[in-house]
Amino acid sequence: MQFIDLKTQFERIEDDVFSRVSTVLQSQKYVMGPEIAELEEKLAEYAGVRHAISCSSGTDALVIPLMGYDLKATDAVFVPSFTFFASAESITLAGGTPVFVDSDATTFNLSPADLDRAIDETLAEGKLTPRGIITVDLFGQPADYDEILAIADKHGLFVIEDAAQGFGGEYKGAKAGSFGNVASTSFFPAKPLGCYGDGGAIFTDDDDLAELIKSIRVHGQGSDKYDNVRIGVNGRLDSIQAAVLLSKLAIFDSEVEARNRVANAYSERLSDVLAVPAVTNGKLSVWAQYTLVAKDADERTAIIDACKAAGVPTAVYYPIPIHLSTAYKSLGYKLGDLPVCEDLANRVFSIPMHPYLQESDIEQIVAAVKEGLR
Ligand SMILES: *Cc1c(COP(=O)(O)O)cnc(C)c1O
Repeated sequence: MQFIDLKTQFERIEDDVFSRVSTVLQSQKYVMGPEIAELEEKLAEYAGVRHAISCSSGTDALVIPLMGYDLKATDAVFVPSFTFFASAESITLAGGTPVFVDSDATTFNLSPADLDRAIDETLAEGKLTPRGIITVDLFGQPADYDEILAIADKHGLFVIEDAAQGFGGEYKGAKAGSFGNVASTSFFPAKPLGCYGDGGAIFTDDDDLAELIKSIRVHGQGSDKYDNVRIGVNGRLDSIQAAVLLSKLAIFDSEVEARNRVANAYSERLSDVLAVPAVTNGKLSVWAQYTLVAKDADERTAIIDACKAAGVPTAVYYPIPIHLSTAYKSLGYKLGDLPVCEDLANRVFSIPMHPYLQESDIEQIVAAVKEGLR
């Protein structure tokens, strides 16, 4: 059994992928070919925003807009600690300083109450200037945007939605990728919408910001290609990856539906024995991960061992919250600073999640998890 099954999906779209990739190969337009414009148009339409700008990875999709905000080392950008490392790393790469925020115990997402606390503490300390917030749609569920955007407004902060795991999800009828000033996603193969390598996209309704992002994406280019007007990066998406994404986007909605079917089946069968993930406030999750919470670290170990014995793969996202990572030691955080995410890190585990899980797979997975609880 696979944790994520990309082979069954490939067999479903094989002919279309080969035909689209072959068109790129025959055109020799490997960089910024017509597939890029077509994909960007379709992505913008999907997310319901004015601009979608493709780029080389989900990390660059965060770094590029952050570079647009011209951060200094004394600028604070608030970010959850319980997320993939790149959510915070991108702030440091763009010259700012991450300030870590605790998570909500039921949704695993940024806690609006703790965001309030972190902003107040930063202002009281007076060393850093609050500039922005990166929210994360963790495991596929959009963050609590009404609360977070109100806090951002109150303090005049920009908001970047990290939708690397959330693209395809919804919050109160609006699609992930449409929240905040700018949003980013990743097309890493294991994400809900993945390509066959690295890729990403940036979304915004702001025309000026879109122009700035396009310039930074290609070495800070100005209207004259050889007059570079700012420092940028080489952050383009390959035409071949855009071709793959056009194939995958055509079946994406049916896959989101299938992921929700699998998640519902898991929740029905496991809610009597474990804390199952809660999707709150009229959200639609795209289920990048299906994450359960064991009673304690020992129970988690027992479940993971039982799954392994039954041939069921599991994973732990994330065993170390970023504020306790070696790379950010110099910021001086210690155990106990963000108690909710520190506790989650000891107890969470994820079971296989992809649109092609069969009833027999679900049965086997649920039985293995329950075996670990005996
Ligand atoms: C995967 C991921 C990223 C980074 O995406 P890459 O394409 O791997 O660079 C950023 N944020 C989150 C929350 C992610 O899951």
